[in-house]
Amino acid sequence: MRAVRYTAGGGPRLGRLDGDGVVDAGLAPAAGFVPDPAGWRAVAAAAGERHPLAAVTLLHPTVPSKIVAIGLNYRDHAEESELDLPDTPVVFAKWPSSLIGPDAPIVIPREETRPDWEGEVAVIIGTRTYRADEAAARAAVGGISVIHDVSGRRAQLETPLRQFTLGKSFDTFTPMGPCVASAEGVDLADIGLRTVVSGETMQESNTRHLIFSIVEVIRYVSRGVTLEPGDVIATGTPAGVGDSRRPPRYLRDGDVVEITVDGVGTLRNPVTAEG
Ligand code: ZN
Repeated sequence: MRAVRYTAGGGPRLGRLDGDGVVDAGLAPAAGFVPDPAGWRAVAAAAGERHPLAAVTLLHPTVPSKIVAIGLNYRDHAEESELDLPDTPVVFAKWPSSLIGPDAPIVIPREETRPDWEGEVAVIIGTRTYRADEAAARAAVGGISVIHDVSGRRAQLETPLRQFTLGKSFDTFTPMGPCVASAEGVDLADIGLRTVVSGETMQESNTRHLIFSIVEVIRYVSRGVTLEPGDVIATGTPAGVGDSRRPPRYLRDGDVVEITVDGVGTLRNPVTAEG
């Protein structure tokens, strides 16, 4: 089952993806779609108006209290970044104010000369969890989505300690969607993903290549941080980012980035330069 948050002209609503349409599930709460058992039941029971997908605007499906992002979590990406493989998960934040939905433009700030793509599998928490053991960590995953960890490398790398937060939290730098797919029955250690920039495949991998598995990341972060239903974890990006290419290839005005996560769908966003 796949849930969306959308607008058909009025306020945000929830719906169930149904082929090339959306079946309305009523007004969206402030937190958007939360993939807890009640959230999935409501979407499963949706019996409202059916809109063709082409007639609605999809929004980022959740409005989380936090976006927990994991850096250098694929061996090949750590190697291309010429950094040592981490002994513990590299955790940083993306501010939720940077979220946008499918097809909304990624706007590159004038000062950011090295804007880069990072296609990632997003995990959305469905059960409040603190100090999760392995079973609780798996059970806490309520849904899967696609997230684009757009990365301002200039802002990230000009600081002596490579502080990630600002360059990864510029307005519009966190596209997410098109939907949340149920995590029920999904093997979290076998999810394929790929990133295509203006028609060229740049990244292609699978969560089986994660250094720290999704379950291990939840265990690690929940030692001290309560993960709330609707919270988002960006699980890391594989090799193939623009900054590591020779010559480097950065996002530019007119690009279109399409990130596909198997079982979820494709998140597509155009890129524009700030005027
Ligand atoms: Zn990332």
